[in-house]
Amino acid sequence: MSASASNYERLMMIDLRSDTVTKPTPGMRAAMAQAEVGDDVYGEDPTVNALEAKAARLLGKDAALFVPTGVMANQLCLRLHTRPGDEVLVEGTAHIIRYEGGSASALSQVQLCCIDGDRGLLTADGVLAAIRPKDVHNPPTTLLCLEQTHNFGGGSVYPLSTIREITKLAGDQGLALHLDGARLFNAAVATGVSAAEFAQPFDTVSFCLSKGLGAPVGSLITSTRDRIAKLRRLRKMFGGGMRQAGILAAAGLYALEHHVTRLQEDHENAKSFALQLQQVPTVYVDPDHVETNIIVFEVVRSDRSTQELLQAFKENGVLLNAIGDHLFRAVTHLDVSNADVEQATHKIGKVLANA
Ligand SMILES: *Cc1c(COP(=O)(O)O)cnc(C)c1O
Repeated sequence: MSASASNYERLMMIDLRSDTVTKPTPGMRAAMAQAEVGDDVYGEDPTVNALEAKAARLLGKDAALFVPTGVMANQLCLRLHTRPGDEVLVEGTAHIIRYEGGSASALSQVQLCCIDGDRGLLTADGVLAAIRPKDVHNPPTTLLCLEQTHNFGGGSVYPLSTIREITKLAGDQGLALHLDGARLFNAAVATGVSAAEFAQPFDTVSFCLSKGLGAPVGSLITSTRDRIAKLRRLRKMFGGGMRQAGILAAAGLYALEHHVTRLQEDHENAKSFALQLQQVPTVYVDPDHVETNIIVFEVVRSDRSTQELLQAFKENGVLLNAIGDHLFRAVTHLDVSNADVEQATHKIGKVLANA
């Protein structure tokens, strides 16, 4: 290991790259250690069954399916709702198109139609214009996917009224409706609208346990009993049938019991981070755009490249992700305190003052 690498390790890193970096808390680890388990492919894991029942109840759906990742959740739903050659409507910076390794085309042989959004959010007019007329020349538009909150959009939240308007018109045109609700509970906590209300218009809704909720692994899909039965078979086909998965499901149950309302703290820390960053002379950030736990900010007037800045932040103990040219993303989570975001602002300010 190089000397500089071990120096980083001696520093207390403030890791703002993603809310996926959270580590299981002692309480969560204890719940995992004590979990009752069985073979979940046989439907015999009581802890997985309890997690699926709880997820279905929370989202107001009949049934749920525990899957290893959020990508698998989305891709199973794409497969369920489409046939090869179909077209799926997504916003142009959606997770499904940017961050899922091309799996929609590889696994379901569909094409994605990208619609321009505003910080990731679509309008009813934009969706309507993208639905193709039924014609032998055209791919059949059969599915619309929305994302709540919108990751690349900076944690932006779809208002319930917009969701209702878009899903009503797409549903009237015969499209199936999927919600990539990776951070659905962030939206619920930020708005006071329940996860079930947001989920209600959709045929399938997925959410992640492994983001701000703090579990090490796992996502859920919620839907009708009939669709969940089909998804269960597809999960096996995609290689996602797990055995004594109750150890993981116990972490998810613990997260749903203990880590939902505390998301508010992450949102408060994100907002205060944005307000502090705004005071740094060469940072541009709009605190009004920080609705949940994601902060997007730009460094202006810097001679250093994006990569050089990332490296300098890291050497000073702050880990961030770049999402564009001099454009950085920070995400608050369970393992980041208000004092940490103050420290992070101080360190970022120091790096930029030595530009
Ligand atoms: C994280 C995320 C996913 C799933 O990612 P995994 O790493 O596979 O769990 C899906 N959609 C959005 C919007 C996400 O942020």
